[in-house]
Amino acid sequence: MGLDRRGFITFLVGGAAGTLFTPVPWKLLDDVSIWSQNWPWIPKLKYGAKGVTPTTCKLCPAGCGLDINTVGKRPVTAEGNFSHPLSQGGICPLGAAAVQLLYSPARVKGPLKNNGGKFESISWDEAKKILAEKLSTQKGSGNVALISGDENGTANEVLAAFLAALGSSDYYFMPSDATAYATAWNKIMGGQGQIGFDLENSDYVLMLGADLLSSWGTVVRNQKAFGQKKGQYIYVGPVQTGSASVADKWVPVLPGKESVFALGLAYYILKAGKTCSAKGFAEFKEYVLTNYTPSKVQALTGVPANDIKKIAAELIAARRPVVVSGSDFGQGSGSLDMVAGIFLNLLLGRLNQPGGLVALPSVQAVDKAPDLNQLRQNSLINFISDVQKGAKRPDVLFIYEANPLYALPQGAQVASVLDKIPFKVSFSTFLDETAAKADLVLPTPHFLERLDDAYTPFGAGAVTYSVSTPVIKPVFDAKPTPDFILELAGALGVDLGISSFEDVLSAKAEKLGADWEELQGGQAYVGDKKVFQSALALPTQILSGGLKMPSSEYPIYLAPVARPYIGNTKLATPPFGVVTIRENELKGKDFYVHLNKATAKKLGLKQDKKVKLVSAAGQCKALVNITETVMNDVVAAPLGFGHTAWDDFSKGKGDNVFNVLTVTQEKPTGLYVWNNSQVKVVKA
Ligand code: SF4
Repeated sequence: MGLDRRGFITFLVGGAAGTLFTPVPWKLLDDVSIWSQNWPWIPKLKYGAKGVTPTTCKLCPAGCGLDINTVGKRPVTAEGNFSHPLSQGGICPLGAAAVQLLYSPARVKGPLKNNGGKFESISWDEAKKILAEKLSTQKGSGNVALISGDENGTANEVLAAFLAALGSSDYYFMPSDATAYATAWNKIMGGQGQIGFDLENSDYVLMLGADLLSSWGTVVRNQKAFGQKKGQYIYVGPVQTGSASVADKWVPVLPGKESVFALGLAYYILKAGKTCSAKGFAEFKEYVLTNYTPSKVQALTGVPANDIKKIAAELIAARRPVVVSGSDFGQGSGSLDMVAGIFLNLLLGRLNQPGGLVALPSVQAVDKAPDLNQLRQNSLINFISDVQKGAKRPDVLFIYEANPLYALPQGAQVASVLDKIPFKVSFSTFLDETAAKADLVLPTPHFLERLDDAYTPFGAGAVTYSVSTPVIKPVFDAKPTPDFILELAGALGVDLGISSFEDVLSAKAEKLGADWEELQGGQAYVGDKKVFQSALALPTQILSGGLKMPSSEYPIYLAPVARPYIGNTKLATPPFGVVTIRENELKGKDFYVHLNKATAKKLGLKQDKKVKLVSAAGQCKALVNITETVMNDVVAAPLGFGHTAWDDFSKGKGDNVFNVLTVTQEKPTGLYVWNNSQVKVVKA
């Protein structure tokens, strides 16, 4: 069974609700349930009352609302919740496999202690004792760090407050466009609030790399906005992604050069007399007009100057345009990409306007927690680099819902650096690559088994808040991580000023003016507040970065492509997802990379030939697929393959493209960038 691009965009699971008693009404359910009931490890369905529990999906940061169909109080299928303000009844293939993932063979079934490379089961009390002993020597020393893969959950406030109480500010989110925007907007430009995009009210959406309709930000909500579009959608990027395929126009631009294209547009918009009030505008304008001239931008991006001029004119003519910049695969951007996109919005007068770029307020419920938006500005790659150099020496590393050993660039180096940290604790639902190497694995429940939340998922055009309510008791011996951290804090005599995680969430609801009971019943809060700006500044000093010439040693650009049905940075392909992988994506144990005919001819490659992608960081093996959906001198490679842990459905299939991505440092911000990686493609 294949699920094509259009299938993904329109993929909705049919509704089934009510309180009838079964025999199981399979006819009312769908393929997902049939698949899920056929896996041998899934318990046989018992007779019982049929019901529906609404909840919020936490399998990725998009924060979709789901309705979980239950039979005898056991979840059987997930479908979109039509009353959720973001996803409005939509669901992606990963979300549709949520129930199946409850019983995944890769789940961690209870606390584990690594004993010389072999895991042994321990109790939660033993785990707490081990950690309390380790951490009692840490209080105030700051030698504890944490990596979080939960982009928008309030659990971060509890964990960050705990870390702060131990004297550490080493709290890092997994890199994403949310962290890149926090760095560009809040740290470099002096902006306040969290950036979002009011797609629903825009009449011209320019996607600079951000693959809005396949994998980026609030992806299902983006698809809904596209479904009711009021004008044009233009996609700029190296690969004809899902967004490019359905957009009004696809403008092929080399990976990482979308910012140059943006500044090429800015050139024409400035020439048309547009201006903005941000500090440093005169200097910024001068630099753009002198250095991002049409001929230079054409040479760097390959886009004819006249085409750029035409799009600039369309942006000026649109009533409510918005520019969304981002990495083609959701991470690895430097500040230049984001600043260039934000600058276009400012020039067009689109900040905090209907259909424009919006700055949204944050709300925190844990007084002792640092500001999460500030924590998003901490660079995980800079931290890893500091550990490598010995500038930071954490003794204990907590990893919450994240898989850095799989989903960071230069994987081999990341692994050797994390090896230097003496004690690692993974709070993970699944035995992923990072959990497999941890000293302690303390399973956090699947989101259908725990109380959790999602505050304004990155990309949303308004403040939203919704809650994940437990649909079923934990199937295995898992404990919600914030609850365990509160127990651990108690054992250490650390007062976080919190009595329970539920109290934290209800306090957050109260601060927002939302009804806690209604949130638990599946209703979502939507707010209309925006943050107005008083200190915006334009950083001219970063502009030289876009003019850098490509490496000639590695002549082909690598364009990683995120495919949610293959997996994401947190999750491997669920067993159900395996059947959605297409023939030109995986053959046996080999995955495909994609080049166009001209590039393949230049490199002497033919369809189905084995190749190696070799970069300064590493290499991976693949088969060649020749397709005109990739621009010249680019190799597109899907992310999500090449797992070494998880289960037999995902392990050993294809190679991990993250290992080949190469970081370079952006001057003068010092940030690491890897959405412009280059490789050699050689015959294997
Ligand atoms: S897009 Fe993300 S949040 Fe939405 S259903 Fe899919 S996995 Fe869940």
